[in-house]
Amino acid sequence: MWRAAAVRALRGGGAGVPRAASGAAAAQLRRRLESELEDIRVAGTWKSERVISSRQGPHLRLAGGGAGIINFCANNYLGLSSHPEVIRAAVEALEKFGAGLSSVRFICGTQSIHKDLEEKIARFHQREDAILYASCFDANAGIFEALLTPEDAVLSDELNHASIIDGIRLCKANKYRYKHMDMQDLEAKLKEAQKCRLRLVATDGAFSMDGDIAPLREICQLAQKYDALVFIDECHATGFLGPSGRGTDELLGVMDKVTIINSTLGKALGGAAGGYTTGPKPLIDLLRQRSRPYLFSNSLPPAVVGCASKALDLLMESNAIAQSMAAKTQRFRSKMAAAGFTISGKDHPICPVMLGDARLASVMAEDMLNRGIYVIGFSYPVVPKGKARIRVQISAVHSDEDIDRCVEAFTEVGRKHGAL
Ligand code: PLP
Repeated sequence: MWRAAAVRALRGGGAGVPRAASGAAAAQLRRRLESELEDIRVAGTWKSERVISSRQGPHLRLAGGGAGIINFCANNYLGLSSHPEVIRAAVEALEKFGAGLSSVRFICGTQSIHKDLEEKIARFHQREDAILYASCFDANAGIFEALLTPEDAVLSDELNHASIIDGIRLCKANKYRYKHMDMQDLEAKLKEAQKCRLRLVATDGAFSMDGDIAPLREICQLAQKYDALVFIDECHATGFLGPSGRGTDELLGVMDKVTIINSTLGKALGGAAGGYTTGPKPLIDLLRQRSRPYLFSNSLPPAVVGCASKALDLLMESNAIAQSMAAKTQRFRSKMAAAGFTISGKDHPICPVMLGDARLASVMAEDMLNRGIYVIGFSYPVVPKGKARIRVQISAVHSDEDIDRCVEAFTEVGRKHGAL
């Protein structure tokens, strides 16, 4: 009986034909959503997605044409997203450990590879322990609420990543937002927060819109003076900043002063997905008990674990890949400066080409694609008004010729649109 009814119901919709929910509430919702979407279009903040039909890498094929596009907008800093050894490690993990765990970690979702990867991450960062999450967004969403109570305080850089902002929103601590990298303002806020039991300063290690690096030495000095802990988000640093790629804490010589690191497996470390917290063992133990995105979400799939684990092996064996990326970054930055462009940040592979005007950034990015260079323009509200830019991201797998072609295209397009 039920089977016949189900078949009839399926036929009613026609295979593959979407069903629109009926009723006044559904119609009202549809009208509201359509009007909201129209507002986004009118505001000029609509984000469209280009569809890629090849692997991630320095050269892409876009769906519907566009082969041989040189890609300058992935966070594939070390070029490991399609590295043959990383892919092989994923396939081996998939075959040996299966597609996924169908479980959260504490029920029956922990395999030996999850424990091995956590141990490897802690060793890489020279910390006591580490815990894996499905993403760094989840790691950031899960840490503040688990760690901080209404007796505590969190002091956050105003330009921190959205996931830090959301994680802080979820906690009940006293919240202070200090001006971007402004140490006077941080000190003033630390003074105010002296009444609290515990103070945690939270900052991105490297900021993704500007390619600038948090003044961690000064932050750690202030933290020491006002008895605070330091948390850094290392998504745009892990694997390539510092003499052996450990991140901004290594770059700035404060590895023993930063207490907590959150980072991603979805950028330089193979680019698949996943995030983690690394730090003191009791903190990691507490997160396993209390952190909601960890407790109530599926374990990382084995193939993803395999990718990250191999990426870390490659980075711990040699720093050659990070050095190659640094040399290419230097090549791009110096040639663009010589051509007359202003590039924000210093030494970081995120190279924002500052243009000011939102329309200029958008038309120039389109024109760059017409010349086979894939870059993205950013404007308000993603960056402040009047600070529109095209963000270029350099990868170790770009060739010198790729970099030079990008600079040439920028020069042509910049002249055409009056940016030079
Ligand atoms: N933190 C920063 C600074 C990021 O740039 C990102 C990703 O864009 C995240 C956190 C989130 O990382 P994931 O993609 O692993 O969720």
